Amino acid sequence: MEGETVREGKTKRLLSSGVPGRLVLEFKDEVSLEDGKVRFALPGKGAACARVSLLAFRFLEARGVDTHLVALAGERGLLVEELEMIPLEVVVWNRACGSLAERLGLEPIAELEEPLLELYLKDDGKGDPLVTDDHVRVLRLLEGEELKTLRSKALRINDFLRGFFSSRGIVLGSVKLEFGRLGEHLVLGDEISPDTCLMWEGEGGRPLGRLAALQGRREPEDYDGVVRMMEEKPGKEVYVYVKPKHGIMDPQGQATMNALRSLGYPEVEDVRVGRYIILRLGDGSSRERVDEMCRRLLANPVIEDYEISWGD
Ligand code: ADP
Repeated sequence: MEGETVREGKTKRLLSSGVPGRLVLEFKDEVSLEDGKVRFALPGKGAACARVSLLAFRFLEARGVDTHLVALAGERGLLVEELEMIPLEVVVWNRACGSLAERLGLEPIAELEEPLLELYLKDDGKGDPLVTDDHVRVLRLLEGEELKTLRSKALRINDFLRGFFSSRGIVLGSVKLEFGRLGEHLVLGDEISPDTCLMWEGEGGRPLGRLAALQGRREPEDYDGVVRMMEEKPGKEVYVYVKPKHGIMDPQGQATMNALRSLGYPEVEDVRVGRYIILRLGDGSSRERVDEMCRRLLANPVIEDYEISWGD
């Protein structure tokens, strides 16, 4: 049944979407550290992680990476393709940070000569241990060429994401990826967010998201700030989609529906005609200001709904 919990994890829930083969990934307003031993509530965290994941997945899709993303589902959810998940966390490190710096005694935040890839077995009971390629083979987690494919996909994704975050003033120290099978293909699943990446603002700048939480901070701003930095890049395009509200008389929609039916498409039950406005914004842009533009001029809030989405 739609909305039913299929699986509950530490920071997300998988809900039935009502459509076979698709699920809703719902992000909780909760931070989980040390394999769930430390947990606390953080308002807005779920929405921030859903939003950043949406932007990152869209960015990757546009560059030919297969991801599970279908669409945003509410404030804190993503509609995704259901995958047969591979129980591995694929972590790619660009900097000596977090547990990597501690384990290997590397100088904190130094840039690695080249990205370093690690595999962890997803098994809370065993503390998600680091595993080698041979372990993966013995455990039969991947078949044939899949391990090679997974490595090259992960490194390519990391390269794309580094550029993506860096153009928004964010240094990507590491990223954690999860893959699953969709038919024959290995597809990127789960999330890409301030909760699964270690990141900070600019060179030597403040830690963000999980890295801030690991340092004892409990501020919603550490997660919300990432969304703002991602969305408010000057010179980027903003798309405003205006459509008539449900139940509001829409003469153009009505006329189009009648025309479609008379052309032999009796299955058309409703047509609403909206408009699509593309804005290019410079410095000083913000979600609040675009929202104000919509209310004051671009849409008529009495009879129309609008959606704002930010380009890459
Ligand atoms: P965990 O506590 O296991 O880390 P989360 O709180 O992150 O889990 O919950 C998300 C769960 O959903 C994870 O087990 C993840 O592997 C799984 N998952 C993510 N994307 C998909 C997908 N597209 N299809 C099926 N399962 C998925």
